[in-house]
Amino acid sequence: MTNLPEIAAAIRHSESVLICGHIMPDGDCLGSVLALGLSLEAMGKKVVMAGPDPIPAIYEFLPGVDRFQTGPPPDGAYDTCIALDCSAPERLGRDYQDLLAKKKVIINIDHHAGSGILGTYCYIDTAAAAVGEIIFDLLKSMQVSISCETAINLYTAIVTDTGSFQYDNVTPDTHRRIAELLEIGVPGAQINVALHEETPKAALVLLREALHTLTMTPCGKVCWMTVTLEMLKNTGALDEHTEGLVNYCRSIRGVEVGLLFREILAGTYKVSLRSKNIVDVNMLAAQFGGGGHAKAAGCVLKGALREIQDKVTRAAVLATGGVL
Ligand code: AMP
Ligand code: MN
Ligand code: MN
Repeated sequence: MTNLPEIAAAIRHSESVLICGHIMPDGDCLGSVLALGLSLEAMGKKVVMAGPDPIPAIYEFLPGVDRFQTGPPPDGAYDTCIALDCSAPERLGRDYQDLLAKKKVIINIDHHAGSGILGTYCYIDTAAAAVGEIIFDLLKSMQVSISCETAINLYTAIVTDTGSFQYDNVTPDTHRRIAELLEIGVPGAQINVALHEETPKAALVLLREALHTLTMTPCGKVCWMTVTLEMLKNTGALDEHTEGLVNYCRSIRGVEVGLLFREILAGTYKVSLRSKNIVDVNMLAAQFGGGGHAKAAGCVLKGALREIQDKVTRAAVLATGGVL
């Protein structure tokens, strides 16, 4: 584990940098990659910002997003690769994992417990609400002035990973950083509209279908919904429109663990796990090869839906202290 000044020194020594984020990018991943990328570019470095998966439409407003390259890693003689917000090598996708394995200088900046990417420099701060907070501090320690474009990216990274400042990862320092970003000129209310008030109708139709699948364990502490490929096809909704569905399960009074089972390939399911108070869903997801944070985690399982649901919901009930 390194400190921010060491990361700053490694970045200063670099000339050509690849900055990448995780599969199915979210606001923290995109905002952090773009904020760091735009800032390093302003310092005169050759920068490529990239990630394996397409960018959800709600993030199209991010300054510099047209520079974010999706698909296989772009060719280039990068002397340094920086991975942001990637809790495990698998979260980079196969091609990026292979690329990073061949590079000399790898910098891993993350806020997931047990972040599993082996970098030359690893900076993991599990107390950070978002990687965007770490990038904010890094830019400050490098005495880089934060442009309005960078500020918008950092604000978005932080506002999305804190659930609009609702989660318990928010600290007084989170609000201090946000205050500085607003002073730079970030239009907070406008960003809220872009993120939450431009939902396509198909996403709400999918929500209606998903709510039909709402199921609770007899103890009332575990609740889940299912989204199949067929539901996506029938509603015209996209993968990105499943974001946030799991929160409906957790929001019910008495529920401690909310789960979303989402078919990502025929017979392969992504499970999103959220907890309210006591259960560490990072540990729960780890039982199935996944990970994340104490209150938000994920894993991927293959097999028959019923069996997967049975396995995960039983483990969730046990984690709440309940009996089967
Ligand atoms: P999600 O349910 O996809 O929104 O993910 C919730 C949290 O868990 C995020 O912080 C992810 O980085 C993390 N996460 C999701 N899936 C995995 C996985 N398969 N392995 C490790 N961490 C994951
Ligand atoms: Mn993320
Ligand atoms: Mn994050």
